[in-house]
Amino acid sequence: MEPTIIEIPSKYHRQRTKDVDLMVVHAMAEWVMDDKRVYHHCTDWLNVLKLSVHAFCLPDGRIVQSVDPQQVAYHAAEFNNTSVGMEFIVAGGHNYDSFLRRMADRENSPYTQAQYDAGGWWFRQQARWFDLTFEQIKTHRDLAPDRKKDPGDAFDWDTFKAAFEAAG
Ligand SMILES: [Zn+2]
Repeated sequence: MEPTIIEIPSKYHRQRTKDVDLMVVHAMAEWVMDDKRVYHHCTDWLNVLKLSVHAFCLPDGRIVQSVDPQQVAYHAAEFNNTSVGMEFIVAGGHNYDSFLRRMADRENSPYTQAQYDAGGWWFRQQARWFDLTFEQIKTHRDLAPDRKKDPGDAFDWDTFKAAFEAAG
C-alpha cells in the first residue's frame, strides 16, 4: 500500500551532474539534542547543519519528502552526486550517545514494521525510477565505516528487503 507522504521541502539541493547508482539507508533521532541541550526536530536539524536528505521515514510509516530525488541532496559526502537517501527516524529525543545506543538495541528495536513497509516502498520506487537493484542499497555505515554507524544493528535488513520486494 502506498504510504502517506508529507512535503517539507529543503532548500539544500542542487542539480545532478551524474546518474544515480546508489541508494542510502540512514537513521537519525526524531528530536536531536544539541550541545546546549536544546532539541531540534529532525527536519530542522538538517537545516541547522546545512545538510539535506531526499526523504524521512517516520515511525508511524508516513514519509516526509524533502528533496526531489532527481536533485542532489547533502546526506552522504562524496556520494551525494550519485545517490538518493532516506533517514529512518528513531522516535524520541536523543543526544548522540543515546541515539547510538538506541540504534544498536536489537532486543528492543526502535524501527517499526510500518517503517520497513513505507521505507521498502520508497526504495522500490527509487529503484524503479533510476533502474537500480536492491543490491545497490547501502547503509551510511557501509559508506563511511570510520565515521558513521547508522542505521545501526537494530535495523533488520531481512525485514527491509522483504518489504522492498513486496512493494508493488
Ligand atoms: Zn547517515
